[in-house]
Amino acid sequence: MEQNKFKPHEKRRGWLKNNNPPGDFTKAPRCGAKTRKGTPCRAPAMRNGRCRLHGGKSTGPRTEEGIERIRRSHLIHGRYTREAIAKRKEFNELLRALKGTIKEVNHRYEDIDFKI
Ligand SMILES: [Zn+2]
Repeated sequence: MEQNKFKPHEKRRGWLKNNNPPGDFTKAPRCGAKTRKGTPCRAPAMRNGRCRLHGGKSTGPRTEEGIERIRRSHLIHGRYTREAIAKRKEFNELLRALKGTIKEVNHRYEDIDFKI
């Protein structure tokens, strides 16, 4: 009876998937970022020393153009842009002034009742 040549835990050789170098991947350097549990992250680190979840994949846009592109893609309705907030503030100030004027007119001409 022929025996199986490979034992289940025999060290394998050759390249790993996704162009990763050969060798024991369990000995790869670890991320070490502080997790929500408070312990260091044990996921394998990427080139910059952090894992894919802790900034290994990307640290965000660097150029002005890239930052602007991200800003535009994250804009949903523009309600909270600086311009919209300033416009609302100006409108509310005008409205308050107008209400004050109407109150004054009502006070002066008591026989006419203006409303807004
Ligand atoms: Zn990590």
